Amino acid sequence: MPLIDTHCHYNLEPLYGNWPTHWAQAQENGVSQSIIVGAGLSSSQKAVDIAQKEEQLYAAVGIHPERILKITDLVQSLSQLETIAQNKKVLAIGEVGLDYFHLEKNQAQKDLFIGQINLAKKLNLPLILHVRDQDETAYFETLEILEQHWHFEKAVIFHCVSGPLKYIEQALKYPNSYFGFDGNITFKNADHLRAIFQLVQKTAPQKILLETDAPYLAPVPWRGQLCEPKMIVQTAKYLLENYALDLELVYQDSLQAFDIKSSI
Ligand SMILES: [Zn+2]
Repeated sequence: MPLIDTHCHYNLEPLYGNWPTHWAQAQENGVSQSIIVGAGLSSSQKAVDIAQKEEQLYAAVGIHPERILKITDLVQSLSQLETIAQNKKVLAIGEVGLDYFHLEKNQAQKDLFIGQINLAKKLNLPLILHVRDQDETAYFETLEILEQHWHFEKAVIFHCVSGPLKYIEQALKYPNSYFGFDGNITFKNADHLRAIFQLVQKTAPQKILLETDAPYLAPVPWRGQLCEPKMIVQTAKYLLENYALDLELVYQDSLQAFDIKSSI
């Protein structure tokens, strides 16, 4: 059964220096395609550069909310991102969103997020969201921003999904919403993530995507170690064994979410 890793970072160290080996190992383990996701301008450019070298690798480009501290000229940064996004291997804008877990809540984060939503609309690309908070604020503000600014014609992917179940219920109602699950769903203390997974599986099983977020979030039994892209197999196996996840459906839906035409 082929797997698509819809969110990984061959463009970030320590994977970047050795990405061809990691990609070869992922393929040996059944990964057929992967989307390399940008977190800033230079990692977005790297994602595109890598994707141009391998037919089955694709890129998403975006400025992560944590980068807000480094941005001095938002308009200029967005126009640089737009230039990078012109490449035909770019399938989405991301990862973008709100992070009140690592950073203070502020308007600058929202402006960066909205600017990139508008870019995704302009380029007719899906959107990959990063949302984190220790309470509920970032989650519900994200929904407010989406409802105000997004058109829901293309996919909106809730990457490494977390947050209150009420937020998930609302996001499930959107057309073309998808939910990315990562290795952290295998963690012992991840009951809440498993509750989110079960809610999505029960409500809209065609909205489930699998991700590694490599080099982060290695699944059990490698928790805390470097997450390698090939480890997506372990997450898939866990969800298959515990929840009878339909991997064929996940594969087809991943192609659809990102408009991937090529088959393997
Ligand atoms: Zn990521």
